Amino acid sequence: MTWDNTNLFADDKPADLAFRKEVREWMEKNVPLDLCHRPDRLTPADLKPWHRKLYDKGWVAPHWSKESGGMGATLTQQIILFEEMARLGVPTPFPHGLNFFGPILIEAGTPEQKAQHLPSILTGDCTWCQGYSESEAGSDLASLQATAVLEGDHFIVNGHKLWTTNGHHADWMFALVRTDPQAQPRHAGITMLLIDLKSPGITIEPIQTMRGDAEFAQEHFDNVRVPVKNMIGKINEGWKIANMVLGSERFTTGHPRNAAVLLNRTRMMAEISGAIVDPIFRHQLAQLEMDLLAFSAFYHHAAEWHALGKAPMSMAPVIKISGGEIGQKASELLMHASGPIGLLRDNLQTPEGLVNIPADLFEMRRLTVGSGAVEIQRNVIAKRVLELGA
Ligand SMILES: Cc1cc2nc3c(=O)[nH]c(=O)nc-3n(C[C@H](O)[C@H](O)[C@H](O)COP(=O)(O)OP(=O)(O)OC[C@H]3O[C@@H](n4cnc5c(N)ncnc54)[C@H](O)[C@@H]3O)c2cc1C
Repeated sequence: MTWDNTNLFADDKPADLAFRKEVREWMEKNVPLDLCHRPDRLTPADLKPWHRKLYDKGWVAPHWSKESGGMGATLTQQIILFEEMARLGVPTPFPHGLNFFGPILIEAGTPEQKAQHLPSILTGDCTWCQGYSESEAGSDLASLQATAVLEGDHFIVNGHKLWTTNGHHADWMFALVRTDPQAQPRHAGITMLLIDLKSPGITIEPIQTMRGDAEFAQEHFDNVRVPVKNMIGKINEGWKIANMVLGSERFTTGHPRNAAVLLNRTRMMAEISGAIVDPIFRHQLAQLEMDLLAFSAFYHHAAEWHALGKAPMSMAPVIKISGGEIGQKASELLMHASGPIGLLRDNLQTPEGLVNIPADLFEMRRLTVGSGAVEIQRNVIAKRVLELGA
């Protein structure tokens, strides 16, 4: 392939160039080829050996401080690692322990909690899931109903959690539960608890998605005893603690690589189907590639601002919205470019390995919902940045 959307915007400083070279050389020698460009959904067990290899190299937690066992990397170095893995089509390790819970634990955990959990997150021996959403609490998370009542040195947890990515594979959940039903505002009555998913009283049901596999689970809690020592921070401070990481979660899920890889695939499939000679298709492809180039430039500038501590608060929602929407448009154009074979649910053998076009289409739908729907991100920009409305 001569045209490569994944390389359109490269702006490495000299020190970063050296790091990219080192990463690229190591990745090319060490990535497990059987994991690269896999169209099926991988489980934490599939990823464990790769997680361990990155751990042994010292690169599994680039964003954690060195004192916590991480690499203490700059945001640019973190992005380089992510990009070089994406270039080879090898997945990043599962994010819930490393990216979502680990930073919370480092910031708000007790020394005992850190000693108990940080090492097994780093090695990949323990898998985490995020228990926030419920059937009536998604965008309006503060309305969550799962309760935790303090009895002596334990909380008694009742209720359910929904849409928990990897809930059926995870060992532990970091959960938001209601500890004060009367609190006003509602988010002032929420606490974060660490729940061992092997505790008695927990039922876990995987949920099949339209992609055909189970990404999520639903968990029911029936008088589950959770030791008070598993509370993060203080009682009723869970909302503040949860918000420590949502911004960075949006930053990583909106990376332009998702769309770049799909647009490369779109070009390839259009060559195979013949759509590449259609002027209307070429116009749509060029438009999307220009949008991607503009977004990539913004993303890299945003990383620089972030490193300088000058990032405006609008940045994370803008990245989440733009990355999600371009990714979805790319998956729709890929379906169009593929012609009738794009509708087949089976994996297709192509010059660039196995692809599954419907799986790509379905997978991209998630980007505008997970970790805060784009409509909610627009509300955030309208209210807090543009100061519109009441
Ligand atoms: C791939 C994926 C992974 C996920 N993983 C997890 C996980 O690991 N753990 C977890 O706890 N949750 C997880 N979720 C759940 C996710 O956080 C929720 O789906 C999300 O917050 C939206 O909530 P909801 O599904 O209840 O939709 P709703 O909140 O019911 O929203 C439905 C629609 O209405 C819109 N809407 C709602 N309120 C407003 C408003 N005020 N203004 C304008 N529009 C509005 C929304 O944008 C959306 O389009 C995941 C979701 C996805 C898609």
